[in-house]
Amino acid sequence: MISRKRALLLCAAIVATVLISGLFVPERLIIPVQGATPADWNAHSFWFQPWGKSGVHRGTDIFAKEGTPVIAASPGLVIYTDTQGTGGNAVTVLGPKWHAHYYAHLRTIKVKRGTYVSRGEEIGSVGTTGNAAGKPPHLHYSIMTQLPYVWRYKAERFGFDRMFYLDPGERLTNSLMEQSQQRLHLEQRAKVHRSLR
Ligand SMILES: [Zn+2]
Repeated sequence: MISRKRALLLCAAIVATVLISGLFVPERLIIPVQGATPADWNAHSFWFQPWGKSGVHRGTDIFAKEGTPVIAASPGLVIYTDTQGTGGNAVTVLGPKWHAHYYAHLRTIKVKRGTYVSRGEEIGSVGTTGNAAGKPPHLHYSIMTQLPYVWRYKAERFGFDRMFYLDPGERLTNSLMEQSQQRLHLEQRAKVHRSLR
């Protein structure tokens, strides 16, 4: 029989392993609106203030035609779906690095809470629900970290929230760059292989 203390330690070790391994899963985001490019969002809209009732804009708005498929930027577990809040029809997916991805103002929701989505899987479509009513259709996309990024704290209005909200536009652009660098690297390696044959 293992003692209670050892069992607790084992549990703690398992939880720690799961937490830490989650941090090292590569994120490799893709743009969550089908066919969209960085030209479809304003890089300065994140953390723009004053911003309506919420005071500060905690995400990036990706503009597209109403009904355009919204796809999962990262793989993950659908932890929340909502139809009533300011986000209208909204979906939250918990992905790698314990980041929660929030997709709002959807016209339709195509996933259910508690299901797993893969990167690129359709989760809904672009709409104008919630407080986007009457505005050009867009996806409001936020990335929240569950473990605070304390170094981002600033002693200013909404400074506390800065630890939890990441800049989606910046992260998408970085992911795009990383992916094109990887492609280039693979192509170069293939070329070298061919020349050696
Ligand atoms: Zn927005």
